[in-house]
Amino acid sequence: GDMSQADTHSSEDSKYPKVKFLMEKDRKRILVTGGAGFVGSHLVDRLMMDGHEVVVMDNFFTGRKRNVEHWIGHENFELLNHDVVEPLYIEVDQIYHLASPASPPHYMYNPIKTIKTNTIGTLNMLGLAKRVNGRFLLASTSEVYGDPEVHPQNEEYWGHVNPIGPRACYDEGKRVAETMSYAYAKQEHVQVRVARIFNTFGPRMHMSDGRVVSNFILQSLQDQPITVFGAGKQTRSFQYVSDLVNGLVMLMNSNISTPVNLGNPEEHSILEFATIIKNLVGCKSDVVHVKEQEDDPQRRRPDITKAMGMGWQPKVPMIEGLNRTIEYFRQELFQSSHNQKM
Ligand code: NAD
Ligand code: UDP
Ligand code: UDP
Repeated sequence: GDMSQADTHSSEDSKYPKVKFLMEKDRKRILVTGGAGFVGSHLVDRLMMDGHEVVVMDNFFTGRKRNVEHWIGHENFELLNHDVVEPLYIEVDQIYHLASPASPPHYMYNPIKTIKTNTIGTLNMLGLAKRVNGRFLLASTSEVYGDPEVHPQNEEYWGHVNPIGPRACYDEGKRVAETMSYAYAKQEHVQVRVARIFNTFGPRMHMSDGRVVSNFILQSLQDQPITVFGAGKQTRSFQYVSDLVNGLVMLMNSNISTPVNLGNPEEHSILEFATIIKNLVGCKSDVVHVKEQEDDPQRRRPDITKAMGMGWQPKVPMIEGLNRTIEYFRQELFQSSHNQKM
């Protein structure tokens, strides 16, 4: 189903989005760490609507209660305010491990905490998976490829990461998280799945997270200059969040234990991207060039042959996804200006 429909009340006598009925033998108890964040909350919608029991664990560093508030009080839903760096003892069948800041300004804000979250936090969730004999999916990232010398990036590529640069806390944190996953798989027979997620956007993404999509949309909506870092020749490939959620659920339930890229291979330069968003919003903003970022990957596009082998492919065209995201940002801006006046 369409994730953006999750907020509509489809059953007359229920205040919740419509949930499928599952027989007890098919119903799983699923932990989503970072479930109050952007991707996590869409995944939670999907798992809830599929009829599972969902436990969200989040410390609300970059996530917010509002992203999952439409489930609060539902008998299949639980929300734990907990930091993944601390051990957690609960009983679950599956763990989607997403807890980690994802945007560069957020993960650079406290690099040591980012490292702890991705290392100790992942170790705790693997320990949990081992104890309950559950299946563990790691939300890894295209950043494990660093500034890639291979294009497009396939899963065989080992990457090109500066271990002491400003992005290292995140990139190396995720790389060791992958290493730990396979150590637990080999040594302790934990069932692991590793998704290497490429740039993703959509509603509920942080308006002020400093990522390119949120910056450009916000700047366009406010008729402010669109800030292109450097010449803007660097490229990215953007996938819409519902495509990612489909991929995560398919991968979790597949028998593929090696890493799988999830992303949309449609590649654009950042400068092209500025023009696309500017035109969609129909604004008067100028494009300005500001200082380029240190260690900024110059090209990024996923090779998704492997994911397509499990029957997955991105479905939402970029323009359609952008329009939905622009609409969300418009509403958020309207609400925040309205709240300020009150
Ligand atoms: P997000 O910041 O919206 O969500 C991350 C969530 O994790 C937030 O709710 C945050 O509060 C929570 N969190 C952070 N540290 C925590 C801790 N110590 N304990 C408990 N909870 C904690 O980011 P997102 O875009 O939804 O990303 C989700 C996952 O996907 C992350 O692991 C990220 O690395 C990965 N990923 C995202 C993208 C993307 O483009 N969005 C790309 C690659 C990988
Ligand atoms: N852990 C957890 N929940 C569990 C089981 C383990 O948080 O249900 C944590 C535990 O605190 C430990 C980590 O996961 O730090 C790794 O667990 P493992 O059993 O592999 O290691 P050990 O406890 O033997 O050091
Ligand atoms: N970027 C930009 N202007 C901005 C924010 C980002 O030109 O206001 C560029 C950034 O330098 C990078 C690309 O857009 O080349 C994607 O940045 P983002 O932070 O969204 O994600 P990541 O670098 O993690 O892919």
